[in-house]
Amino acid sequence: MRMRRLLAVVLSCAVVGLPAAPAAADPPTHPGGPCIQDNQNVSLSSVAGYADVVSGLDRIARTSKGLVTVHKAGQSGEGRDLLYATVGRGPDVFWLHARIHGDELHSTESVLQVLDHLASGDPDARLIRERMTVIVIPMYNPDGAEANIRQSTTPNRVDLNRDWENFSQPESRAWYALWQRMRPRLALDLHHMGTAPVVQGTEELNQFQIGIRPIDPSRMTATQWATAQQLSMVSVKALDGFGQTHVARYPDIDITNAVLSRMLLGGPGPDGSSPGFATQGAIFYEVRSVGQKSNGYLERLFTVPTMAVLNAVARGELAGTDLSGIDAIPRATQGTCGV
Ligand SMILES: [Zn+2]
Repeated sequence: MRMRRLLAVVLSCAVVGLPAAPAAADPPTHPGGPCIQDNQNVSLSSVAGYADVVSGLDRIARTSKGLVTVHKAGQSGEGRDLLYATVGRGPDVFWLHARIHGDELHSTESVLQVLDHLASGDPDARLIRERMTVIVIPMYNPDGAEANIRQSTTPNRVDLNRDWENFSQPESRAWYALWQRMRPRLALDLHHMGTAPVVQGTEELNQFQIGIRPIDPSRMTATQWATAQQLSMVSVKALDGFGQTHVARYPDIDITNAVLSRMLLGGPGPDGSSPGFATQGAIFYEVRSVGQKSNGYLERLFTVPTMAVLNAVARGELAGTDLSGIDAIPRATQGTCGV
């Protein structure tokens, strides 16, 4: 299913450097990605495209015996269905979205794997389904994904993760309406990193950045900030257990028009009205972009912490997470890639 494009390209940072968004418009403190270092082969045919999302969701729903249902939130600018799945019937609603930046490749496959697992007979999956409703969005930005660019494609090239104040794009309006209707308590957003691929104080390549805060904690309630840290610590500990030690903390950004930011701030929506609620906890992951031989590894960097978070929430363990190690998570620093 992934032979759609037989395009094997050698990407460098310069090539990925987004002609529509010069470096000055995309400083290192913004979620960037992907930063693919020189001499890394990346085959676009090896990662999930829109057709794979359509077929993957269909397969999972058909084999799930009714546990997974697939829906359309609306249409993209180019007319593609904005597809999402829900699994579980519990009251605790969790939002998981991937590929808001179309050229951040591996998150789509990862959330399809998570969805597949959540539909399984695994005891953890059963508990999650009982206590939670998980909204899975494998491709927030299908037009950008098909064009292999960060932004949307029409009516303008807009970074969809900066569009939850203006709502200039159809994708933003459709996904906002779903968020408002489903009222998720928790949210997780998956990215690839653009810059800062070295763990500060080391020569180690930074494999994973934990995005604890899309906005300044002063804009959050105490509960929101605590929840973000709990989600983050569960994620980092899961990666420690996975043998992944090159984890860094994402820079302290304060971007109010990003999707997670608006979820935490509680809107307002495209028509200026208040949604009447705010998401309690929202964090993001950024995984390093490397060559296709690492696809499975990169996908695990997304799925391992995502499942750990879902398990912690379903078991009622999230609020009791030990936060004592959170300040010990190193920062990332600027390496040669993405300069
Ligand atoms: Zn991104």
